[in-house]
Amino acid sequence: MAKNNFKNGSKSSNQNQQANLQKVKGFRDIWGQDYFRQKGAIEKCEDVALYYGFSPLEIPMVEATDIFERGVGEETDIVSKELFSMTTKGGDKISLRPEFTAGVMRAYIENGWASVPQPVMVYNYGPLFRHDKPQKGRYREFKQFNLEMLGTDKAIADAMVIKTSVSMLEEIGIQDVVVEINSIGDKESRKKFIKDLTTYYKKLNNKICANCRERLKTSPLRLLDCKEEQCQQFKKDAPKPMNCLNPESKKHFKEVLEYLEGTGVNYNINHTLVRGLDYYTHTVFEFEKTFSETKENGEVVEKTLSIGGGGRYDYLGKVMGSKKDVPAVGVAIGIDRVLLMPGTENVESKLQKKPKVFFVQIGLEAKLHSLSIVEMLRKARVPMAQSLSKDSLAVQLGMAERLEVPYVLIFGQKEAMDNVVIVRNMSNHSQETIDIDKVVDYIKKLK
Ligand code: AMP
Repeated sequence: MAKNNFKNGSKSSNQNQQANLQKVKGFRDIWGQDYFRQKGAIEKCEDVALYYGFSPLEIPMVEATDIFERGVGEETDIVSKELFSMTTKGGDKISLRPEFTAGVMRAYIENGWASVPQPVMVYNYGPLFRHDKPQKGRYREFKQFNLEMLGTDKAIADAMVIKTSVSMLEEIGIQDVVVEINSIGDKESRKKFIKDLTTYYKKLNNKICANCRERLKTSPLRLLDCKEEQCQQFKKDAPKPMNCLNPESKKHFKEVLEYLEGTGVNYNINHTLVRGLDYYTHTVFEFEKTFSETKENGEVVEKTLSIGGGGRYDYLGKVMGSKKDVPAVGVAIGIDRVLLMPGTENVESKLQKKPKVFFVQIGLEAKLHSLSIVEMLRKARVPMAQSLSKDSLAVQLGMAERLEVPYVLIFGQKEAMDNVVIVRNMSNHSQETIDIDKVVDYIKKLK
C-alpha cells in the first residue's frame, strides 16, 4: 500500500512548497474560434506575401542574447526591460526573441545570402516574447507576421513592404488603413537630427518626465516615443527629422511617397514618429487603428493601438558582423491586435469547413461500424459533424439542428444490417435510403 505522506506529516520538500499550477502572467491559451481566427489571419498574410514574391523562412524562437543587444540596441525598452533571458546549462546566454528583424539579419549573414540574387525577400510569423505590462492588446507572448527585404536600398522596396502590409490588413478585414510615415534619413541626417533634438530637450531638462531625462542621456530619439501628458507639448514643438534630411535622404523619402501615391496607399506624415529601435534609418512607418473596449463598469471606451509597423534599417547588417552594408526594409503586423479591430470578427481558417452532413448512429451494431463510416466520409473529404459518444436519436438530431447542418445521415440497427444509411434533408425533412458504398457519391451531388 502507498505510504500516506500527508497523514504522517513527512511531506517531501517539493510537496511543502505551494505549487503554482496556473499559466504564467501575460501568456494565454488560444483555442476554439480564437485559434482559427489567428490561423486564418496568418493564412491571409501568407497568401498575400507569396503573391508579392516573399518566400517563407523559419528562424529559432531563441537566439544568443548578443543578437538582440547588438541588433535591437541595449538601451531600447524591448532589450533593457522586456527581454526574457536565461543562461543554459552550458553557460550560454540566450533570449526568447522579442522581434524578428535581428534574427532574420543573423540568418542572412550566417547563411551567406549576400551571394544569392538580391534582394532576399522573406516572410515569417510566430510568437514573440516581451516582458511588458500585460493588458488588452499587450501580451507577454504575442504573434507577428513579418516581412523583410534584404539587399536593396531602393525606395520601391519601402513602398512594396508598405503596400503588401496594407493588402494583408485589407484581406483580414481592416478597411481604411492609413500609414503614419516619417523619415529619419541616413546616418548623417540622423546624427544632425539627434544633435538638434538633444539641444532642444536639454533646455527643458527640469520640465520633462524622469524617463525622458534618462532618454536624453542614453537614447534621445526615444524622447519622441514618450506617452506622458506633461511631455506632449514639448514633443509637438520639437525639431522635426524632416528638416534635418540631407539631399539623398530627401530624395529617397520623396520617392517612397510617390510610389505610395501611385498605388493608392493613404499616408499621413507624422513628424514625431521615429520608432524606438536603434536600427532604423530613412523610412519609418506604423499602422494605427481604433477599437471600442467595454470596461468592467460597462463604460465603452475608444482605444487606438498600433497594429503594425516597420522601417528601413540600412546599417544593421554591419552592426551584426556583415563586412558589407546590407540595406534592408521590413514590417511586422501584430496579429493579436489586428484581431481586436472591427471588421475582423469573421476571419476564418481554410481548415474550417461548415459541415455538410451530421452522422447519427443508434444502437450497438451501428456504433460498431460508425468509425468506419466517419473515416469513409473523411477520406472522401465530406465536411461532417458527429457526436459518437451520444446514444439518443433526439439528442443527436438536436445537435445537427443547432449546427444548422443541411443533411443528416441516420444509421441504426436495421441500416447496419442492410448496409444502408438514411439521408435526411433537414430543410424539408424528406429522406432516402442509400447503400453505404454509394453514399459518398450521393452526398457529393447534393447542393
Ligand atoms: P513592434 O515590433 O514593437 O514594432 O510591434 C509591431 C506590432 O506588433 C505592433 O504594432 C503591435 O501590433 C504588435 N505588438 C507589439 N508588442 C505587442 C505586445 N506586447 N502584445 C501584442 N502585440 C504587440
